Amino acid sequence: MKYFAFCCLFAISVVAKDFVGESGGFIAIPVTGETTTMPTFSTNGQKFHLYGLPYVDVQTELSIFDSKITVNPVDFGESRITITNTALVTPSAEDQKRSAQESKQLRSVLSRKSNLTAHSVDFLRPVTGVITSRYGKKRFINDLPRAPHLALDLDGEIGDPIIAPLDGKVILVDNFFYAGNFIVLDHGSSIFTSYSHMHSTDVVVGQYVTKGEKIGTVGSTGRVTGPHLHWTVYFNGNRVNPEKLIEDGFIDTLVGENPE
Ligand SMILES: [Zn+2]
Repeated sequence: MKYFAFCCLFAISVVAKDFVGESGGFIAIPVTGETTTMPTFSTNGQKFHLYGLPYVDVQTELSIFDSKITVNPVDFGESRITITNTALVTPSAEDQKRSAQESKQLRSVLSRKSNLTAHSVDFLRPVTGVITSRYGKKRFINDLPRAPHLALDLDGEIGDPIIAPLDGKVILVDNFFYAGNFIVLDHGSSIFTSYSHMHSTDVVVGQYVTKGEKIGTVGSTGRVTGPHLHWTVYFNGNRVNPEKLIEDGFIDTLVGENPE
């Protein structure tokens, strides 16, 4: 089986060139041959890998296959809030322990080898509500920097349906300290999505869902100020900007930016 794996890695051939992308964005890498480990799409007879870039706040160079990728930072803006009750800013030792355990559980689920292949990168918007907080926003509480917002917040009323943006398999359904009622979907080819603060979860671990199928409803569970969906998208281990994926003409823009 080992040789089979090596065979498939070498079965693909990447057109070596340099790429420029932005923090949390994507690049389309022209390829020939077959692989199931990365999402692939075709346009005008050319096949591409869709590679998700990490969030960076300084210009960063990556090396993928034989290509050099320059990832430029983006000014996503910031939000500053002041909370006078410090007990609300810092969770209790017990809650910190719980949330650390839950982060570990999430990492473990995301790192499991998937046997699924993503046959499409054409994402549906999981809820109809407007964007209330964009990806990449820097956050400060009482002037102290917190982790940037590496997800997209979409507005909704309690009970609004949340749908699967692509075909996938449910790999986690749980209640987490920060995320509240929480679902993770595996879409194959290293694409995962997660859904936080849900009111109801209508699926179970191991269940396959089809694109457009309802997986639960918008809620305000966990650490939130009001009902919304906090939607996280992972590509090749990076938390990418979900807004890009639901923009009209996303693929055309991407291929246009990195022409042959
Ligand atoms: Zn959020």
